[in-house]
Amino acid sequence: MDLTLKAASRGKFAPLFIVLSACGWLPRADVKAPRPSPVLAQDGPRESWNEGRVGRTENVVLVTIDGVRWQDVFGGVDPAMATMAGMRADDVVDAEGLMPNLYALARAGAVSGAPGHGRAMTATGPNYVSLPGYLEIFTGSRDVGCRTNGCDATKMRTFLDAARDNLAVRDEDIAVISSWDALARAASSAPHRIAMSAGRTGGVSREKVRVDDVAARLVDEGATAAAAPGDGDYRPDAYTAAIALRYLDVVRPRVMAVGLGDTDEYAHAGDYASYIQAIRRADQFLGDLRMHLKQMGKYGEQTTIVVTCDHGRSSGFTDHGWDAPESGRVWLITSGGAVPALGYLDEGGAEHLADIAPTLEALLGMAPRHDRWSGTPMAAVTQAFAAKYVGKAGGRTTAYR
Ligand SMILES: [Zn+2]
Repeated sequence: MDLTLKAASRGKFAPLFIVLSACGWLPRADVKAPRPSPVLAQDGPRESWNEGRVGRTENVVLVTIDGVRWQDVFGGVDPAMATMAGMRADDVVDAEGLMPNLYALARAGAVSGAPGHGRAMTATGPNYVSLPGYLEIFTGSRDVGCRTNGCDATKMRTFLDAARDNLAVRDEDIAVISSWDALARAASSAPHRIAMSAGRTGGVSREKVRVDDVAARLVDEGATAAAAPGDGDYRPDAYTAAIALRYLDVVRPRVMAVGLGDTDEYAHAGDYASYIQAIRRADQFLGDLRMHLKQMGKYGEQTTIVVTCDHGRSSGFTDHGWDAPESGRVWLITSGGAVPALGYLDEGGAEHLADIAPTLEALLGMAPRHDRWSGTPMAAVTQAFAAKYVGKAGGRTTAYR
């Protein structure tokens, strides 16, 4: 799509979006979770993966779990939906029972988008589908020039592109490992300059992900696996997760984005039980990630883990998009490295997906972007960081090119 067309389509939709916002039709913060969210006692026993150490952020692992609802993340398994899905009584667990590893990260970090804490966090939309959501995450902009999953690869400079220029020594220092092939179109405008394996066979730089015999074997196994629960070039999460962990161990990348997607595939099929199982497996990946980082010494201590989603779900569960403004609601956990244990953020948290990239750029010491559509760094996180470091380190800001 050329620039004229893009500008035209933006102009066409912008007034509609403003009207919806003014009517209060977007998701509200005061919607209740199915049950109370777990207590994140700041003075309670620390099970945090970094033993409460707050240091620097030199590296980032960004994990996206496609289309996982805030209701499940903060409220646990929905009893009524579980009954309808024929799940066993002991499958109906609270949020921490569903995602124990996410909550281990939450106890050591900062949580945005929890019910009853601050303003709701949303994808900007107005079409709450995957590609615009990922574009917002990776570009740090609320105007990504894309409203469907069919958009061409982005020409916008992404957080990964900026990290490649400012932090990386080699292409492999910046990596994308994702289940959904189309995530490649959102993650980078210069994918040949990083290492990217997206879907079973996608990613122009996927050869660079074959960093050793084990990684190469995992990439090959993923390429020949069945696409289910997805279709087309989709690669099941089990392969994506295994490749990501191996890549982390071997390369120690400065920034790695891991895109999981089984959750959204099962939800579209209306299969709540399998959706919940996919959430459990995604949480297990977070536990594995935490354990790997714990065994990586200083690298692990200086790594910030970010976990979020690209959109939520409609009140009817299976869908998301234009006609379901409630599906714009998302959530975010930031933990490790320079992020202190702040718990649920009542203020200074992220309000849009676009706030994630600027926050990470601030933590990594990259100069802020200046654009009217740019997201805002999370004040709660960056202020805690600044209080600790500004004036002591003589400034560590590098040019944002
Ligand atoms: Zn999605």
